[in-house]
Amino acid sequence: MKQKIKIALELLLNRLSEENTRRVSLGFSHFKKQLSVAYKKQSWKIRLIHLCDFIIVRTNGFRFIEFELTNICNAQCIFCPYPDMLRTEKKFMNMTSETLAMNSKKLSHFKNAMVSFTPTTGDTLLHPEWPAFIASIMAVPQVKQTTFFTNAIKLDIENQHKLIDLLKHDNHLKMSQLYFSIGGLNRTDYKTLYKVDRFDLVIEQINSFLLLLLENNLTTGIHLHLKMLRANDFKLAEAISLLNKNKYPFLYISHSHLYYSNDGYNRNAQIAYYHKVPIEKTKACSYLYKTRFAADGSIWADGCVISEMPGDSSLRLGSASDSLTVIEAARTKIIADWEQQSLIPKPCQGCTVYHCKK
Ligand code: SF4
Repeated sequence: MKQKIKIALELLLNRLSEENTRRVSLGFSHFKKQLSVAYKKQSWKIRLIHLCDFIIVRTNGFRFIEFELTNICNAQCIFCPYPDMLRTEKKFMNMTSETLAMNSKKLSHFKNAMVSFTPTTGDTLLHPEWPAFIASIMAVPQVKQTTFFTNAIKLDIENQHKLIDLLKHDNHLKMSQLYFSIGGLNRTDYKTLYKVDRFDLVIEQINSFLLLLLENNLTTGIHLHLKMLRANDFKLAEAISLLNKNKYPFLYISHSHLYYSNDGYNRNAQIAYYHKVPIEKTKACSYLYKTRFAADGSIWADGCVISEMPGDSSLRLGSASDSLTVIEAARTKIIADWEQQSLIPKPCQGCTVYHCKK
């Protein structure tokens, strides 16, 4: 799609209300489902599916739900608080089926929910029962769309087939987008960023998974997000030849040289950070309306990577055994404390993700 059209479309989508954002997202998901039938025989459909994917990823809204199956990770990224959290009292665990059942019931109170299985820290594929847990959440009628980020280290051949199976049985195309994060474009940069030596494995696994998608006529949007070091140059042609050897048509590659942070974050000199928002934060961040169902059974506001700082629980709303009334009362208090008494929660102080949608 031409760059100018993309920018204009993005501006237009940003102006929509939260409710209309969800409507547009669901409308284009439905349209994509129809286009996906026999797309290989009618190649004109590919461009329209690209358009649908473009719109769907930009209409997640700011109230989507974060559903964390595990908070255990197999990397120690230099842009994530996970390595610091390992030195705190926090419990590192997989979500249990009891917690899943309690949280599933709560989900039925959300309308047209979009659920992201991306944990605050951790990697979804490390949960031993991730296919069954994800399928059970996707089966909740109020859940209309789902997605998740993975570092693809555990996307071994067994998990590739499990994921393909999940997508093949996804008759309503609820899982229309998947995100893989990769540290740089070579082994050395990957090791510097993720602190593990898994670059070659990840590249091989992603190529093999894309081939399976092709062979199974699936149209899931796959977004490869390359995390870059301060000194790296991004070369799109190199990324494509490395990561899409089999030419899967619905692969989108993006990259970022900038990372989120807040005032409590230990910065790393090898990466660059977003600047602080140059406005007075009198209005509470819109992301406080998001809900995170954490792996340990607690429930939090927001769920971005820096919303839970080591040793801090100021965005915790309650636990899976609490009623939604209790959870929402805690959220209302956090927002009122911010807007009426300027009591800004610790992770939000100096947070560069801060977003205010009136
Ligand atoms: S200010 Fe930052 S930490 Fe606070 S809710 Fe917004 S995104 Fe999350």
